[in-house]
Amino acid sequence: MELLKDCQEIYDFLIEYQERTLPFLERVRFNLHLLMCGNCAAYLKAYSRSGEIFRAALRDDPPPPELMELTLNFLRTHSRS
Ligand SMILES: [Zn+2]
Repeated sequence: MELLKDCQEIYDFLIEYQERTLPFLERVRFNLHLLMCGNCAAYLKAYSRSGEIFRAALRDDPPPPELMELTLNFLRTHSRS
């Protein structure tokens, strides 16, 4: 499945995606994955809503509990498959 990014890649690209710095082709592949992977789509939705939390987390050291929970849930759902 060459067109399909794996979930780890989606996770890595989230910030670039959010800031619209992803190259066009990467963005297309990213969106394609989101269309086919409900977990990542749900995660991105949550991520977009808590963009400020993520941004703050990048600046400060201890991540807020909301971010931890979000990340742990993401990793849990994705490590199952
Ligand atoms: Zn995924």
